[in-house]
Amino acid sequence: MEMATTPHSLLLQNPNTNFLRNSKTTFATIPMTSTRLTTTTPLNPAKPISVKCAATATHIQDRSPGLSESQDRVFNFAAGPAILPEHVLRKAQSELYIWRGSGMSVMEMSHRGKEFLSIIQKAESDLRTLLNIPDEYSVLFLQGGATTQFAAIPLNLCKPDDEVDYLVTGSWGDKAFKEAQKYSKPKVIWTGKSEKYTKIPAFEELEQSENAKYLHICANETIHGVEFKTYPKTKNGLLIADMSSNFCSKPVDVSKFGIIYAGAQKNVGPSGVTIAIIRKDLIGNAQPVTPVMLDYKIHDENKSLYNTPPCYGIYMCGLVFEDLLEQGGLVEIEKKNKRKADILYNAIDESKGFYRCPVEKSVRSLMNVPFTLEKAELEAEFVKEAAKEKMVQLKGHRSVGGMRASIYNAMPLAGVEKLVAFMKEFQAKHA
Ligand code: PMP
Repeated sequence: MEMATTPHSLLLQNPNTNFLRNSKTTFATIPMTSTRLTTTTPLNPAKPISVKCAATATHIQDRSPGLSESQDRVFNFAAGPAILPEHVLRKAQSELYIWRGSGMSVMEMSHRGKEFLSIIQKAESDLRTLLNIPDEYSVLFLQGGATTQFAAIPLNLCKPDDEVDYLVTGSWGDKAFKEAQKYSKPKVIWTGKSEKYTKIPAFEELEQSENAKYLHICANETIHGVEFKTYPKTKNGLLIADMSSNFCSKPVDVSKFGIIYAGAQKNVGPSGVTIAIIRKDLIGNAQPVTPVMLDYKIHDENKSLYNTPPCYGIYMCGLVFEDLLEQGGLVEIEKKNKRKADILYNAIDESKGFYRCPVEKSVRSLMNVPFTLEKAELEAEFVKEAAKEKMVQLKGHRSVGGMRASIYNAMPLAGVEKLVAFMKEFQAKHA
């Protein structure tokens, strides 16, 4: 069964000719939320039907391009999968059916064909330009999410008895540490747990293990909104960073890291693609038990094409990289991100305690902004009212509550301005 889920307006064409080909499909089989049928009898074949829906529609086979209206899009503050640049989505839409004269969709291409090879090579090359990745680093497009890297890293870098250090500034760092326990001897050298993950320690305070093979950090804790602004120097080993939620949000000196890894679904694409940037000399020493899909050597030797990669996701990442370059690269992107974050944090700080961000100011994330309401009983209403104004996914992570606005690269300034205006109005109403 084909499924299409979209919060956008779908103009469904004459059902007799080109959609709902399965004669058994009736509107009863299309569960819709906030559905508005804007014309007459749904089963009258003569009339076009305009449906606004967050619908799971079956067998919708043909639509003209460009039918979703930008005014129907919400501001999506989700932590990931997250908002993508509208113009990237439109570009993908325009080449979804036939990719650049190839006669087929990217989804239908052989991953070994020249068309897809050009797509993956361009994506890598643009990412290298964006992050200024030195030649002695490999760029891998992998699967399994950042979570799989929690295991792949110790498996590739350590023997089972090797010591490694983890600096735990939030739930993701903690998860990475726990996974590493299966394949190495990790030690938490600092944790912010007792302070509800609102801080990053002064680096001089860190007691790094003498023989640690690496120090693992989560560069931006998505749930808690805590972001490293500078990076610790390791005593002897490598610095490894999970950059899932701030990847490509600002320039990074890649040469300081052994490995940088990130799930794509926050800043650079859809879920299903995980990017790992790995210093080449670290590749090739995986523990013998390492599954083939977790062995960096296999993926490096095969240029991320050992098995079938997430082709469409990689294509989408490529479009996002192109877009970031067109915007002037990561220096410009960081400026935009700072501006958005400033506006939002200022609104919180100037609310006289009505809103509160628990994170220490110097390490507040530019990407994920958690905040609470002084009157916690109003939080559900805040989220509900915001959704009515087309600002969605503002509920905080279930483990911490409150609210969280994720304002990744693709969140336009207008989205943050609208949120701040709403916050002020909400405060005026409830103060
Ligand atoms: N690390 C961070 C910082 C994350 O935000 C997430 C996902 N939200 C993960 C790791 C896990 O990523 P995935 O779901 O891609 O495995």
